[in-house]
Amino acid sequence: MDSVDDYLAAILAAIRPLMPRELSLDDADGGVLAEDIAAQWPLPPFDNSAMDGYAVRASDIAAATADAPVTLPVTGEVAAGDTREHQLVPGSCLRIMTGAPLPGGADAVVPVELTDGGTARVAISQAVAAGASVRRAGGDAAAGDALLAAGSRLGPAPLGLLAAAGRASVLARPRPRVAVFSTGNELAAPGTPITRGRIWESNSFMLASAARQAGADAYRQPSVPDAADQVLAVIEDAAGRADLLVTSGGVSMGGEHDVVKAALQTLGTVRFRKVAMQPGMPQGFGVIGAASTPILTLPGNPVSAFVSFQLFARPALRALQGTTDGHQRTARAVLTAPLRSPPEKRSFLRGVLADDGTEITPLSGQASHQLAALARANALIVVPEQVISMQAGDVAEVICLDD
Ligand code: AMP
Ligand code: MG
Repeated sequence: MDSVDDYLAAILAAIRPLMPRELSLDDADGGVLAEDIAAQWPLPPFDNSAMDGYAVRASDIAAATADAPVTLPVTGEVAAGDTREHQLVPGSCLRIMTGAPLPGGADAVVPVELTDGGTARVAISQAVAAGASVRRAGGDAAAGDALLAAGSRLGPAPLGLLAAAGRASVLARPRPRVAVFSTGNELAAPGTPITRGRIWESNSFMLASAARQAGADAYRQPSVPDAADQVLAVIEDAAGRADLLVTSGGVSMGGEHDVVKAALQTLGTVRFRKVAMQPGMPQGFGVIGAASTPILTLPGNPVSAFVSFQLFARPALRALQGTTDGHQRTARAVLTAPLRSPPEKRSFLRGVLADDGTEITPLSGQASHQLAALARANALIVVPEQVISMQAGDVAEVICLDD
């Protein structure tokens, strides 16, 4: 039997990162930057107002107080997007809006709240310092400043920064494309009628969602019956359109019923093994097709498939993007109840981590088909190989499932 760590290491060693591509910002969302980004222009590009108010020379209103306001003539108005050259005449002011270029000769903005809001003349009831409410050119980043480093994950704020810096596209490793499908004669699509002996197929929905949660683009395919030739055809077809294949079912020890194993074993590029974990012992990993697309063949029991995805597919997705970030948060929490775990296997029990993160409660229903308990869980309790029982009050390591 392989250890969890050895098996994961073998998977990661075999994965080659996706080639970086020039991607529009929309397509780059969730990708990983493959170039260093420097500001080509100052950010902001020009001095501008941080407030709606009046552009002034601070020295003109130095004496202004609530009791003795200073009144200035208002000689014009500058709104955001105004491209004209405005010049402040000393002893006067201009109405100015947030984001509008600061007129020449002005050195401060008086917020409208400190005035009577006048249009022809304005009474200003408080002095402000030179530079007040002015956003200086380059005050966010100067031209040439480093903005983002290669390897950065592109999410909301980095994409906003790239757009603000004028970039329409960047060199990045894209979100991986994951094809997900299940095998089993017993499986029927939810929403269709079932007869005795059949069940509604759930793994593909669960695994596609897990792949999306991990930042991939997931494509779910209908389940495939237990026929090795059909399974192989679907796998080979999907391999051409995905960066990672994830199957579930058909890899345990049941001989000719384990069709994924039967279909792939002959190719010699996918290895099947037992991993010292519970749930999820039977696993397979290798590459397939002309592009050597990596494939993870997960066991069919829903909880086994889920745990296997978190442990192996998630890091594989990161490796495809050339990164090791994005691991689920782990924590240490106090058990509220005892638990048992098999010898020689690392087990992953479903639990509920308290909101404050201090206590973890193992759920009842720990068998690998018990999806109802999995759906209530927000954490996996990790019990090391050599531990066979833990008591209430013991501290356990947990993997958080909410990100
Ligand atoms: P297998 O690994 O194919 O032997 O399947 C193990 C168990 O998981 C069996 O009880 C299957 O019915 C069940 N199973 C396999 N695939 C799915 C699936 N996609 N959705 C729900 N249950 C499944
Ligand atoms: Mg099966």
